[in-house]
Amino acid sequence: MKPLLPLEDALSRVLSRAGLPPDAQSCALLAASGRVLAADVASTLDVPGADNSAMDGYALRAADAGSPLPVVQRIAAGAVGAALQPGSAARIFTGAPLPAGADAVVMQENCREKEGVLFIDSAIKVGDNVRPRGQDISAGATVLSRGRRLRPQDLGLLASVGQSEVLVYRPLRVAILSTGDELVEPGQPLQGPAQVYNSNRYTLTGLLHGLGMEVLDLGIVPDDPEATARALEQGAAQADCVISSGGVSVGEEDHVKSQVEALGELTLWKLAIKPGKPLAFGAIAETPFIGLPGNPTSVFVTFCLIARPFLLKRQGVQEAAVARLTARAAFEVKRPGSRQDYLRVSLCEEQGELVAQRYSNQSSGVLSSVSHSDALAVVPAQQSVANGDRVQVIPLDSFY
Ligand code: AMP
Ligand code: MG
Repeated sequence: MKPLLPLEDALSRVLSRAGLPPDAQSCALLAASGRVLAADVASTLDVPGADNSAMDGYALRAADAGSPLPVVQRIAAGAVGAALQPGSAARIFTGAPLPAGADAVVMQENCREKEGVLFIDSAIKVGDNVRPRGQDISAGATVLSRGRRLRPQDLGLLASVGQSEVLVYRPLRVAILSTGDELVEPGQPLQGPAQVYNSNRYTLTGLLHGLGMEVLDLGIVPDDPEATARALEQGAAQADCVISSGGVSVGEEDHVKSQVEALGELTLWKLAIKPGKPLAFGAIAETPFIGLPGNPTSVFVTFCLIARPFLLKRQGVQEAAVARLTARAAFEVKRPGSRQDYLRVSLCEEQGELVAQRYSNQSSGVLSSVSHSDALAVVPAQQSVANGDRVQVIPLDSFY
């Protein structure tokens, strides 16, 4: 029997085949959330463009703060004040540029204005409540780098340097097919106890859309060699990657392996992870192919651990690592397993510590275990876990 393949080995083999990212295209900044930058973005500006007030208050020279000061002008956000003479103060509002000569702002809560004269109640230092020019970004600096998956705050940052369009990679188009004679689409009646609804299609579509990718849905493919070959060929011709679920075990009804082999190349792995042992990787003509297991929970886990990093790298993303946190196990694993286990757990905080609670049924057919969990707890092979032990957890949010 072939030894089980550790996840890291499978991952490095898969990632080495990710190839070059797709073409770059221009995208309106407002539509760029989740897209991947195809070029570094440098700023032509200092942000902020001038020293400005961080508070509603009064601009002055810090050295003048000991004595009452006449308030000689008013500067609102969007206005530019006149140079400030020594021994005077300017009423100023948050975001307004400091007038020339001023070097500090006193908050309005820490002073009183009476009949045009300012009395200051607290000590003032040079720079107090001033946001210096360029404190966020200086002209010429790289704001965000190629390979960045744009988050909402990144769009804001790009807007702050005046970008209205960005160069991004064309979103990958991923073909998905759900294999199995037993599958029925939701909305259709089940014809008997042998049938199940196709859930993998929905899980995979949601995961792919979450990565900003397009889905070419090839629907349900019966357990039949010709139908399988036709779907694989169509996916390979029209998509950047083909992903199937089911049909990669070694049963007689599993046709994915033989058909991918006939059309291209394929390696079938037995991964040393649980859930998700069988996994196929290969290519149909030039198009990469990933064959996920059929069990709905295995689909989720193998997609997140293998397909996701592969697709993100192919999409041009530089950094696809997910956050790993440490939590206290509120469960035990008595018998150490031969595979690394990705337990579905919910997280809560107890006495300032993150605590992981295991979902009651960890069967790979129980999709509720994923829906009702917050994270995957990673239990290494050959290890038992006692109540209270520290375990690594990966929040499910980090996979979207
Ligand atoms: P397979 O790998 O094709 O032997 O499938 C393993 C298990 O996953 C079987 O119980 C299948 O019925 C189930 N399964 C496969 N594909 C799907 C799907 N798309 N939706 C829900 N269950 C599935
Ligand atoms: Mg099947």
